[in-house]
Amino acid sequence: MLFEDFINASEKKINDVLNSQIDLSDFESFIRKSSKEIEGITEDVRERFSAFCDYFFALSSLPPDRANVRLKNGLLMIDKIRNENLTALPPLAEKEIDLDSPIKYAKKIGPRREEELRKLGIYMIRDLFYHFPRMYDDWRRPLKILDLIAGERVSATAKIVNVEKKRIKNFIIITAVVTDGFSNMYIVWFNQEYIYDTLNGAKQIAFSGLVKNENGKFKVYSPDFEVVDAEASKISPIYDLTSGISQGVIRSIIENNIQHINAFEDPIPESILKKRNLMDLKRALYGMHFPKSEYHLKMAKKRMVYEEFFMLELSKIMIKHNVQSKEGISKSFKGLLSKQFMKTLPFKLTNAQKKVISEIEKDLKDSKMMNRLLHGDVGSGKTVVAEIAALDTIESGFQVAFMAPTYVLASQHFERITKDLSKFGIKIAFLAGSTPYSDKLKIKEKIINGEIDMIIGTHALIQKDVVFKNLGFIVIDEQHKFGVKQREMLMSKGKTIDTLVMTATPIPRTLSMTLYGDLDVSIIDEMPKGRKNPKTFVVNNSKREEVYDFVRQEISQNVGVFWIVPLIEESEKIDLSAATRIYDEFKSGPFSNQSVGLLHGRMPSEEKNDVMEKFLRNEIQILVSTTVIEVGIDIPHAGVMVIEHPERFGLAQLHQLRGRVGRSGNDSYCILLTNGSEIDRLRYFAHTFNGFDLSEYDLKLRGPGEFMGTRQHGLPEFKVANLVEDEALLIEAREDAIDLIKEDPDLNAYHKLLDEMNRRYGEKIKFVEVG
Ligand code: ADP
Ligand code: MG
Repeated sequence: MLFEDFINASEKKINDVLNSQIDLSDFESFIRKSSKEIEGITEDVRERFSAFCDYFFALSSLPPDRANVRLKNGLLMIDKIRNENLTALPPLAEKEIDLDSPIKYAKKIGPRREEELRKLGIYMIRDLFYHFPRMYDDWRRPLKILDLIAGERVSATAKIVNVEKKRIKNFIIITAVVTDGFSNMYIVWFNQEYIYDTLNGAKQIAFSGLVKNENGKFKVYSPDFEVVDAEASKISPIYDLTSGISQGVIRSIIENNIQHINAFEDPIPESILKKRNLMDLKRALYGMHFPKSEYHLKMAKKRMVYEEFFMLELSKIMIKHNVQSKEGISKSFKGLLSKQFMKTLPFKLTNAQKKVISEIEKDLKDSKMMNRLLHGDVGSGKTVVAEIAALDTIESGFQVAFMAPTYVLASQHFERITKDLSKFGIKIAFLAGSTPYSDKLKIKEKIINGEIDMIIGTHALIQKDVVFKNLGFIVIDEQHKFGVKQREMLMSKGKTIDTLVMTATPIPRTLSMTLYGDLDVSIIDEMPKGRKNPKTFVVNNSKREEVYDFVRQEISQNVGVFWIVPLIEESEKIDLSAATRIYDEFKSGPFSNQSVGLLHGRMPSEEKNDVMEKFLRNEIQILVSTTVIEVGIDIPHAGVMVIEHPERFGLAQLHQLRGRVGRSGNDSYCILLTNGSEIDRLRYFAHTFNGFDLSEYDLKLRGPGEFMGTRQHGLPEFKVANLVEDEALLIEAREDAIDLIKEDPDLNAYHKLLDEMNRRYGEKIKFVEVG
């Protein structure tokens, strides 16, 4: 039995006795038995081990309360043993090294290896130790052939019975027969003669590889291995590689330089390490590469995950703090324009809308810069909120920019906002990449000299040559479609700009912390009265004809129909042809008596707009579309949405799509045409209408990347952390970062931490300083 296994088992038994699950005598006999079975431990551990066992000698002859005290002390001893005997510090270095010196100054590295290491992102000695293994093989336990399963990986230590070398034609086959004491298995290599020399005469081998069963014999081909004596078995790291470097080489590079870990200084304040029970950096880095035990590895990972989260959250909170402490210009307005505007609305604002408007107006009036996320489900009425804030800004004498991610959406906003606001004398213009050159020039001219109050457009707005007279407020719609970079570029167009980013993506708490950790958040958590959830059905493809019937019937009631065909980035062309094919089929087949339209991302902007116009006027009755309509578009009479291949979408995305129908207050329908895959997910979607619930569900199921449904999601890359599994640590890290910045906003007393922040996020933090 391994010492670590013994400690884990002892802990469990002690708890069982304390909870009266087992008798004290069971625990005693366990200790007696184990003391003979412990294997492969060093002298210092042996001492601890004996002391531990002795402490429980004749336990049952003690009065029960004394025995209980001993058991409880036993748990404390276990903690101590874990920290002192099951973890380790790296061996001391002979001489100090600068971690920021180029990797070529490390041992075992020539020019060719230097080049290969660069491909892995390793430039400085420091980077070498942050190149963590992808996984680990635990070679510490003896082979048990009875437990082997063909097709699974085995990691174990075994006795070598025999090694033989055979030559067949041009092949050299080396076979090692190994045993667990009861039966044998075979390890085979081809054409690697040196392995014969390595193994010949050796007594034990530690190895990891895939188990195959050939005619009842277990075999492993070309495993990762090492010749070992009983004392040396270990947990072996497996790294991500580039083509030029083998597992053995990278392992030996790290092994030969491991003492340089001593040069690291822990950036995380000691008080935090203590509070959160985190391992110090040296011990943790050592444990990431050469863990002494599973406990060592577990604690090392925990520490590195925390570190990643803590640094990230700290940077976000520093940015937020910097922004908030920056003197902006307070906008003074009485709200005359916005009051007039509200009177013209055909509806009453919801309480939630009123609440977020007052939050935003407070920010506008304040001299601090606003950096706010406006979060509300599809159809919750974010645009009106933005319009009111825009009017306030214009009343106070500043310009407004409104950016949307697609041409269609931007132009729809332009039309709607022009209709809503131009009656108050507001001058509004539109700018997109496809705007004719001469028009662009004129518009830019008017932006510079202030003849335009509000400019609406696509990312054309962030071009360098768009210069404002006095930009005061930016609205960014459907923020998740933009990268963080683009938001920052727009913000850099003025010194004191208030920013409002709007999103309907129901973002789970963990994700919003990482993506928007630097923003204040306003939430519209109430839908306008009279909205009904679209009735959602999961329908098998075999019933398409019935769906066609239903759609024809709805169209006859003047209901608009969306027919969605998914588009995935990788195969845009194929999917495009799928949309075109369905469109052609519909026109001549099931919908030859209806008017069918086609919309996809590759159409020229004017054409897209034209199609949308026609759909809006009900001249097109059924619109076959890729997901260009996903965001924001408002077609009040649309009442049916059919989605092909719904399994390809994230639930948050499906939710956005579904939000396009049912805006009239009449019954509306969402039909998922499925081939049966991922049916549970789709059924969950069919009866869930809360965006947050849907997104949590999908995040757990599919992970963050998939969830956002786009590569440009702006999520930071983590080395060890996992947003879903490590959520609890993220929340702790954020709390600690907030506390620390409250205590010391510039981190004056935490130089090591500040250095590390600069190393990781230098440019981003600087950006805000330039602001
Ligand atoms: P989203 O938040 O998805 O961007 P919009 O701003 O496009 O939603 O609003 C969706 C629809 O709801 C629009 O037609 C809008 O005029 C309408 N709307 C907004 N607020 C209200 C309200 N308080 N009551 C009724 N309808 C509203
Ligand atoms: Mg919108």
